[in-house]
Amino acid sequence: MSTIGSSREQEVVAQVPKGLFVGGEWRDATGGGTLAVEDPSTGEALCEVADATPQDALACLDAAVAAQAEWAAVPPRERGEILRRAWEALMARQDELALLMTLEMGKPVAESSAEIAYAGEFLRWFAEEAVRIEGRWATAPNGGMRMLTMRQPVGPCLLITPWNFPMAMGTRKIGPAVAAGCTMVVKPAKQTPLSMLALAQILQESGLPAGVLNVFTSRSASRTTGPLIDDPRLRKLSFTGSTEVGRQLMAQASGHVLRVSMELGGNAPFLVFEDADLDAAVEGAMVAKMRNIGEACTAANRFHVHASVAGAFAERLAQRMGGLQLGRGSEDGVQVGPLIDDEQRDKVRELVQDALEKGARCVVGGPERIPGVPGHFFPPTVLTDVPDDARLLREEIFGPVAPITTFETEEEAIAAANRTEYGLVAYVFTRDLDRAIRVIERLETGMVGLNQGLVSNAAAPFGGVKQSGFGREGGAEGIDEYLSIKYAAIRAN
Ligand code: NAP
Repeated sequence: MSTIGSSREQEVVAQVPKGLFVGGEWRDATGGGTLAVEDPSTGEALCEVADATPQDALACLDAAVAAQAEWAAVPPRERGEILRRAWEALMARQDELALLMTLEMGKPVAESSAEIAYAGEFLRWFAEEAVRIEGRWATAPNGGMRMLTMRQPVGPCLLITPWNFPMAMGTRKIGPAVAAGCTMVVKPAKQTPLSMLALAQILQESGLPAGVLNVFTSRSASRTTGPLIDDPRLRKLSFTGSTEVGRQLMAQASGHVLRVSMELGGNAPFLVFEDADLDAAVEGAMVAKMRNIGEACTAANRFHVHASVAGAFAERLAQRMGGLQLGRGSEDGVQVGPLIDDEQRDKVRELVQDALEKGARCVVGGPERIPGVPGHFFPPTVLTDVPDDARLLREEIFGPVAPITTFETEEEAIAAANRTEYGLVAYVFTRDLDRAIRVIERLETGMVGLNQGLVSNAAAPFGGVKQSGFGREGGAEGIDEYLSIKYAAIRAN
């Protein structure tokens, strides 16, 4: 049953191929199985897509393996031009793709539109990087030989992506893999397969040869990706998702010593010092907390604010967050969409209840259900006086909840920020340059936002340390994840 609202919504969903993309062709799953894609603002089905079997997943790998040698020999400029054309096509269709993303993921259309632009930037950036894959020529220190260093494609890759940024998490991997000359199998999250299927069609229309990109959708991730990870023909696994699943995949990948990149969970601290520009801090907090309805690995998970400004900061943040309009992401004026599913909403509610039971105070929002509203909505919530043992200071919230705690000294603030097994990103607000440098250098994270609440940019190396993973996506570094270094020792008399 389809509950899609307008005819425009029906049209954008109808346009997307719903099958598996294998060896340049769209086809049904073996046995014809399908899985439903849900609209999180209503909880009802939008459409069905193919439910791949393990056999279908292996057919994707077969196609990637068959295409690898020929694809690696395609001139870099040609590989880059395919990406550039795909970027242009993505931007030409930005509005319809944004609506499609909102329908399957829930965020407001303006945010989906921003994600399409962000996703496109990875295609554009790596179109430019494809022609800068360089090596080195050197004379050995004793003069007895020459040393030639080259960078070659790693080979067929498996790329697994999450639901929270349904397209950008794909292009962050597909862009560099295409640029490097790798073939690939992509498995998007089961909640949001439509954006990836639309992207595959765009890449196909942009001239990507058959077999370079293969995509399968499935209700069982482990059953379908397991055989690929166990297959020695696979040369690389790049995963974006939870730390828990990342750990399992790393264990599995050890069987064949498979090369892996892991973009995992976060627990970002947001530090506001007494000398901060409070307007900028509140503005930054709104972006760092509310982007993607709080369902971002980079979301500010906990606010550590100097005691002298904590009251004013909490009051102003609560005012801004409390004033946001909740609703279906495709409706005008909506600023906060639903969470992805019931499970996620229940988890956020449980974390808020735990904090309240332990003594936190709710300034705005709260765990009560919003009466008469069907989707998986949770109101923007600000909590103060959050005790150290509250679970939401340690666990990834993944929802629109801002817990605020206080500190007295810089030393205390840094210790609190680093008190986590995660290390993706931190935000720092201060007008003191010496302090900014000291704090940035001591934070145990892969990225820092100084006086701003957004770090994501295709031209920068995105990634974490500690249990937020390893490997970098974007920037000059991003393509290295898809290249192996080979060195030739050349005798020279
Ligand atoms: P998830 O449950 O770990 O799932 C991520 C992907 O892995 C999905 O495609 C999922 O497929 C698949 N998967 C799940 N279990 C698997 C298994 N046993 N074997 C193989 N694949 C498996 O994460 P999520 O809930 O979708 O995404 C949210 C998480 O992603 C958060 O922790 C967030 O911080 C993290 N994230 C990190 C970054 C980053 O760059 N560091 C960026 C975005 C998100 P199904 O959907 O079919 O289960």
